[in-house]
Amino acid sequence: MRRERRVKILATLGPASSNEAMIARLFEAGADVFRINMSHSTHEEAEALHRAIRHVEETHGRPIGILADLQGPKLRIGEIEGGRVTVPEGAVFRFDREDKPGTVERVRLPHPPVFEAVEPGHMLVLDDGRLRMRVTANTGDVITADVVVGGPLSSRKGVSLPDTILPLSALTEKDRSDLAFALKLGVDWIALSFVQRVDDVAEARKLARGRAAIMAKIEKPSALAQLDEIIEMADGLMVARGDLGVELPVQKVPGLQKKITRKARRAGKPVVIATQMLESMITAPMPTRAEVSDVATAVFEGADAVMLSAESAVGQYPVEAVATMDKIAIEVERDPSYDAIVHAQRTTPEPTAADAIASAAHTVADTLGLSAIVCYTASGSTGIRVARERPTQPVIALTPVETTGRRLSMVWGLHCVLTEDPTDLDDMVDKACRIACQEEFAHPGERVIITAGVPLGTPGATNMIRVAFVEC
Ligand code: PEP
Repeated sequence: MRRERRVKILATLGPASSNEAMIARLFEAGADVFRINMSHSTHEEAEALHRAIRHVEETHGRPIGILADLQGPKLRIGEIEGGRVTVPEGAVFRFDREDKPGTVERVRLPHPPVFEAVEPGHMLVLDDGRLRMRVTANTGDVITADVVVGGPLSSRKGVSLPDTILPLSALTEKDRSDLAFALKLGVDWIALSFVQRVDDVAEARKLARGRAAIMAKIEKPSALAQLDEIIEMADGLMVARGDLGVELPVQKVPGLQKKITRKARRAGKPVVIATQMLESMITAPMPTRAEVSDVATAVFEGADAVMLSAESAVGQYPVEAVATMDKIAIEVERDPSYDAIVHAQRTTPEPTAADAIASAAHTVADTLGLSAIVCYTASGSTGIRVARERPTQPVIALTPVETTGRRLSMVWGLHCVLTEDPTDLDDMVDKACRIACQEEFAHPGERVIITAGVPLGTPGATNMIRVAFVEC
């Protein structure tokens, strides 16, 4: 089974998509990677989803990626008397540590690190951006703020602090327990929420010890300030537009999406565009024209993956949402302007053998009009470097390592096939050509280009290219 597009589709699972039959339908409609949101899943639920996905994978004989998204340090206010008050614009409001229900003048903020870090002038944003307050004083026990944008405030609403670097790790106790559990299950990617600094990613990487790839969700201004370092430390990036649009003015999100995508592409790190891509499809079988255009923008930008959140997790049309994304991506990638737009962001290869070979394979494939690029990749690194070129030809990544195949399902353009390491150079060519033919990327008489490393089967040794005729 081959996809007709290069961009990958990441579908979040939830109550609307938790049984195996539905997961199979989502995969068949186009989902390449499934996201388990640990904010909403118990360990038992995560385990059941993992089992169902692996079963679908076995039935369809294709590697499928699983991303476990950790909740991160989500801050919330305490209870409000009667459940809700309306805070007027221009009023003075206080956040304190007192364990009693909130009123129109104050509320408990049960997060001591906030009292250590907030300074006058910082903004406090509540309820996904609906209320905004500017801090005027912080005694260490009471934070006083002017209400800039008022409105209804209910118990346990979320609090964002876009200007404050909190003395908090991106990994809470819950995250550590969820991370250990997800690693035990054998997920392929771990997403870190509310990353503030590069050390947050380093900490997760240390805990994961290579058992899963680490994706940093970019949703905090402080993460943007260390973007280059975070990109270098992480295995992938997510443009988490939901919280990004709360922490920063929403009109800044499109520019940041482009900036993060371009930097990630330049570094050869997979980048996912997330949140509200087809939001109206939560309740309608058709997207809005603006949503279609939003998905198209991400595809034209050369993002590795586009993500569905509530659309596939709790929406009424999860299969239709995946199928819609699939259709948009296919159409965009067939558009006559697509190649030129995607290649405008292509950057020069880095001075490594893998990059030199990836770039040469692309050039040779273009010059000779070859049908596909076939790369042997044990760790996945060569596959990623070839994908970084965004070649016009399909790329088949051959790997003997199951986890590599699954991780690469997140990466632009890679069609992964599990196969034994070749025994010698003849076997290397035979296998590559046979698989290119079987997977319908090349026909007998056509030619493909193969990248591999000699000695064969040595990870990190990519050092050769070979043009071969397909006979099958
Ligand atoms: C986001 O904020 O855009 C995001 C993807 O994170 P979450 O779904 O965890 O809020």
